Amino acid sequence: MRAVLDHIGIAVQDLSAALAFYRDALGLEIEAPEEVTSQRVRAHFVAVGESKLELLEATASESAIARYVDKRGPGLHHITLRVDDIDAAVAQLRSRGVRMIDEQPRPGAEGSTIAFIHPSSAHGVLVELKQSTSPHQSALRTPQSEIRRFPLGELELISLSDGFLRMDGGLMFGIVPKVEWSVAAPADDRNRVTLGMRPLIVRGARTMIIDAGLGRKGDAAFDDMYGVDHRYDLDRALADARLAPEDIDIVLASHLNFDHSGGFTVRDAGGRLRPRFSRAQYIVRRGEWEDATHVHSQNSARYNEDKYKPLAEAGVLQLVDDDVTIMPGVKVKRTGGHSTHHQVVMIESGGKSAAFAADLIPTTVHVTESWIPALDLYPMDTLAAKRAFNADAVAREILVFFYHDPSIAAGYLREENGNRRVIPA
Ligand SMILES: [Zn+2]
Repeated sequence: MRAVLDHIGIAVQDLSAALAFYRDALGLEIEAPEEVTSQRVRAHFVAVGESKLELLEATASESAIARYVDKRGPGLHHITLRVDDIDAAVAQLRSRGVRMIDEQPRPGAEGSTIAFIHPSSAHGVLVELKQSTSPHQSALRTPQSEIRRFPLGELELISLSDGFLRMDGGLMFGIVPKVEWSVAAPADDRNRVTLGMRPLIVRGARTMIIDAGLGRKGDAAFDDMYGVDHRYDLDRALADARLAPEDIDIVLASHLNFDHSGGFTVRDAGGRLRPRFSRAQYIVRRGEWEDATHVHSQNSARYNEDKYKPLAEAGVLQLVDDDVTIMPGVKVKRTGGHSTHHQVVMIESGGKSAAFAADLIPTTVHVTESWIPALDLYPMDTLAAKRAFNADAVAREILVFFYHDPSIAAGYLREENGNRRVIPA
């Protein structure tokens, strides 16, 4: 098993005396205390590099910390080792006859799972094992493709799926170290993380689809490189939603990267690409169209103009310049960042709000501000746009759709202790 020192717990008798040493004499920074009511303890974490010290202050005389201090005086209380898979770790220890205080892992603070090993088996040290979930969703998110319906006032929103692809984890998480992102999004043996592709149907006065997945490329090398999984795809999703391609009136592009626009066209019997949604008007932001048809070395890998140029030739392309209303209740909003003219889609009906976040917040773990893909051409613009979007989403309880999340189609943002997380809808 792989274990990392998470923190060292120190039982404290006199908090002000302890602070005088750890904070004042050593000059360390003490985090705001956390109350662990069930244990009658107040925990003061002190960051020391990768690990932490945890000063444990009893808040009642029956607290285990109070009893410990009474018996042995203040001092080292426990060490906590962080493991990737606590169930496996506990099973391994038990199979070797190690005495556990917790025979089964149990819930700990901040969504973690913990289990204590008895000091008699750990050479006099109380050892806590911990599997953290970080501020993010658990690592154990199994990819799911399915359609989901969400009523929103007069509108119906239907989240579809065009299967999955895999993208290099470094590309997806930018400046975030792998030790952190790989907890939330486990990498495969080629360092790739699994991403969903979830086009969104908006049904109201008209029927609209926002983005359309990867489409069929028919290129084995490409499919291998991106781990394309099309066992479930947009054709099946549309059928499951009881929609035919001819039912779509409007196709709206958040931007034209291949994983969003690849499904805009299909090959006819003669091998020529034609619009997939034969009756639809395709709406694209003019600046994005210009960029996507004049690529440069920094963005060329993400655009495949063969897939959308036929739209212009077929006369179904409509370019828009501003943050305009596309149909009643549906407006686009430029964010920049990912590409200069990347846009999100804001949806309002009956006093309720939803948003298609596209690649501004590709997966639920990207709600954390600094988790910005290295793919983004202008990360500081992403940061500013994400801040504004997140604040709006929390304040107005916006139902947010996550195009690339492998398992969560949509959710609500919550803010707790300065951390943002997603409550799946
Ligand atoms: Zn994307």
